[in-house]
Amino acid sequence: MCFAEGLVNVPALEITTQLAFPSLVSKLEGIGWIASVAEELEFGTRIQVCGEHDDELAEILCTFVFEDWMCAYLDVRLAKGHSYLHEDEKEYLVLVMLHSIKTGSHTYAGHTLGEWKQAILSTFQEMVNGFSPIDIEGVLRFRLKGFLESICSKLEDDVQQFLADREYEEFVSMLRYILEAQTQTSQVMHVYCSKERVWICDADGELVRDTDVAKAVELASEGEDMNAEDLAMSILITRSPSEIIIHDLFPGAPWPSFPETVEKVFSGRAKKCGGCSTCVRLQQASFRLYPFC
Ligand SMILES: [Zn+2]
Repeated sequence: MCFAEGLVNVPALEITTQLAFPSLVSKLEGIGWIASVAEELEFGTRIQVCGEHDDELAEILCTFVFEDWMCAYLDVRLAKGHSYLHEDEKEYLVLVMLHSIKTGSHTYAGHTLGEWKQAILSTFQEMVNGFSPIDIEGVLRFRLKGFLESICSKLEDDVQQFLADREYEEFVSMLRYILEAQTQTSQVMHVYCSKERVWICDADGELVRDTDVAKAVELASEGEDMNAEDLAMSILITRSPSEIIIHDLFPGAPWPSFPETVEKVFSGRAKKCGGCSTCVRLQQASFRLYPFC
């Protein structure tokens, strides 16, 4: 029974949560419910709440679960699985995931977000109406299992993509640093990128070969097959042309594509041809050579 002033005949309800306890209290107080700590547990806090308008209570619990609790849950998952991430990196990943949940039209284990919310709301309504003690994590462990497994899987994918992005940005920064040490020349170079290969021509259309650079890249590869893109990038950085025209013959290349990297490294000095007559001829020739590619 609740003994708060004005609510003497209203029965109290117990709610336990491991995560986002202060947010739960402030949300309950926001709808006029009175919350007081009943017990500090090893993992969580049990509070006693009392107030009127039971349906409003179930709705606010549902909102709490998909906002504050979800935010804290994702943060804990990242802290446990990826402790090397900085606070701001974890915060970014959590915000991206929450935004994706809120605005996306995904299904989670075969159900939409709206269906999962409705299932949780119905559960809370039954418990509130029956004055059953509500253990938030206990309810979600069973009633939100598929949803949580689905977002945790996506969170892992997001972390891997985030790390790949970071590694790529560091790679580009390193190349830019090396480029800055080179003296810029007045050369104009054309970079051709097809699905099968990468090659460079000078302003007169002559194929650019650089034996010294090729040897250096071969040595750096330590016996592995020489990477054509590494060789092309090394030639471009060594020659440091003032202008690079990129002829992108395979715009569907997976990220990060070589044309994209050249544009990032050479910044304002590199641009795409925008579909020149040479590209058209090469694409027609490629179709004749590889009609099913
Ligand atoms: Zn072109």
